[in-house]
Amino acid sequence: MKYISTRGKVAPIGFIDMFLMGLGEDGGLIVPETIPAIAEEQLQAWSGLSFPEVMFNVFSLYTNGEIPDEDLRKLIEDSYAGFTSPDVLPLKKINDELSVMELFHGPTFAFKDVALQFMGNLYAYVAKKRGEVINILGATSGDTGASAISSVRGKEGIQICILHPNGKVSRVQELQMTTVQDDNVLNLSVEGNFDDCQRIIKDLFADVSFKTKYHLRAINSINFVRILAQAVYYFYAYLKLPAEARANGVNVSVPTGNFGNIFSGYLAKKMGVPIKQLVLATNENNILERFIREGVYRPEGFRSTHSPSMDIQIASNFERYLYYFLGEDSAEVTARMDRFKAEGQLTFTEEEVARIQRDLSAYSVSNEECLETIRKYKEEHGYLLDPHSACGVAAYERAGNKSDGVFVSLATAHPAKFDEAIKLIGIEQEFPERISELFDKPQRQVDVDNSEAAVAALLVDFYRVDG
Ligand SMILES: *Cc1c(COP(=O)(O)O)cnc(C)c1O
Repeated sequence: MKYISTRGKVAPIGFIDMFLMGLGEDGGLIVPETIPAIAEEQLQAWSGLSFPEVMFNVFSLYTNGEIPDEDLRKLIEDSYAGFTSPDVLPLKKINDELSVMELFHGPTFAFKDVALQFMGNLYAYVAKKRGEVINILGATSGDTGASAISSVRGKEGIQICILHPNGKVSRVQELQMTTVQDDNVLNLSVEGNFDDCQRIIKDLFADVSFKTKYHLRAINSINFVRILAQAVYYFYAYLKLPAEARANGVNVSVPTGNFGNIFSGYLAKKMGVPIKQLVLATNENNILERFIREGVYRPEGFRSTHSPSMDIQIASNFERYLYYFLGEDSAEVTARMDRFKAEGQLTFTEEEVARIQRDLSAYSVSNEECLETIRKYKEEHGYLLDPHSACGVAAYERAGNKSDGVFVSLATAHPAKFDEAIKLIGIEQEFPERISELFDKPQRQVDVDNSEAAVAALLVDFYRVDG
């Protein structure tokens, strides 16, 4: 198995090199040369396996033997040992039609932990095995930063710096990042918004001499390892359903912003998970819904919503979908992305829209509908959804065609993480201890101006450059 770029200008590379490269050096996204298919019989034989076992089976198809089986098993086991549910990702039945898969039992209470706990351990493994210097740089609107920091804190050979917009992440998200006292963690609180943070790190990654000298590594969902780790829970969700419920396949509703969560589902389907409808749920930042419904991919004004982790205009994984949609034609992908850059939008023909709609259906959920869904499920089912998970459930309710069979809706965060929204509808919740104890801990962060130079100056002192 080798990995290539959606733009076709990266020579095929192996699994670990792909992991370290992150974004393709030609500006494209990294994808596997071919997607391995799992036969129906084999898939059924995985029923009853634990999440780590399913993950091992899936990853073995992609790692090329670059990580010996024994090491891979241990990496995976260590990554999920800190999840508080015995199932790691429990599937909760709401009614005969709908189950919710809870992806938030990791250390930072959001689904980012599913991929990032593993990636943190994999970075530490590569640092040790290859003597690589690993300096992680990321920007966050809250969840990714907390999760990435938790995954590498105190690990030998790794330094991590995360930029967050000052005062614009939820209180719990800020505490999860800034109460970590390990010396290999640097939190920068930027005087600006999330887009400013994102722009600063993009500029630093684009500065090739800086990137090379400081061995900058990425943790966002441009990294294919993150996409692949997320694909595993689509297998697991399917396998956890009772055999008679899944006999006709399964439908999945997916809260997404960057197209990362949903692309993982698309990949799982291509590998052989019998997913019928893949329902894409967005909040009021609905570029992806407009793309699927109308065939126009065009960013519009940014809106603040109750589900801030999905407040995204440019979906970085969109290009991966485009690549498969265009029959793996990297010249055509390059042409369309160039056009997008020049014109600020992409439009698709009627025939193309019909094909897109065979892959995906989409619903955007208003702020009001999000809160109403939380209220309704609490009242009717005694189940408390967080605002991101509520977008998924609201999209399921509107997805129509329930005669297709059972639905799984992905729950991406614990409600305690987004108490600001839950409070608005008068629901009082009890915080898990691991969240309430954060409020008493001292915080550690550095305030920094909204400028690349100011950030770079701090990084030069913080990062290590020798092996
Ligand atoms: C990041 C995040 C999402 C969306 O994930 P994408 O990678 O943008 O698809 C949804 N819910 C929560 C809670 C998140 O943190």
